[in-house]
Amino acid sequence: GEKELTDINALSYEYLRLSFQSMKRIEKDINVTYETNFDTSLPKVNVIPQDIGRVLQNIFNNAFQALAQSSKSIEPHLTVSTKNFGDQIQVSISDNGPGIPDAIKDKIFQPFFTTKPAGQGTGLGLSLSYDIIKAHGGEILVKSKEGVGSEFVITIPKEA
Ligand code: ADP
Ligand code: MG
Repeated sequence: GEKELTDINALSYEYLRLSFQSMKRIEKDINVTYETNFDTSLPKVNVIPQDIGRVLQNIFNNAFQALAQSSKSIEPHLTVSTKNFGDQIQVSISDNGPGIPDAIKDKIFQPFFTTKPAGQGTGLGLSLSYDIIKAHGGEILVKSKEGVGSEFVITIPKEA
């Protein structure tokens, strides 16, 4: 793909819908809700939209899988927010799923690291996402607390 000026709000919403629909096909009885909190002042940024789309899809899929897993004890919920942030834009994806134990937090971006059963996870989603965001000159980080949830924050420079 080539870089093009991209509306990250629209791209986020597109991949949120795709990921939500594929989760609902598998987890028919689950009652996951989501909300969007898009900054309407977000400028378009020069990115490879298919690549940023893959990053968003990976993170949404992980979040919905985590929520499906813990849906019996909570009201599973996902929030996507964007923010116009100086010379950068930010996308935040948070869930109130099981969270990520401190012991593995620094491993989740490594290739082939997965806690999913064989056949259900390749462990490549976040490592690929990390590489894509780095290639755009950005950052990706995770904040998570076990039993509370997880938040992934992507920062992309406006001059990507
Ligand atoms: P995979 O999804 O194939 O396991 P990823 O690279 O996408 O590989 O994710 C690596 C690991 O990070 C997952 O197996 C899981 O343990 C953890 N993880 C990622 N996102 C979340 C999340 N939203 N909530 C809890 N754990 C997560
Ligand atoms: Mg994944």
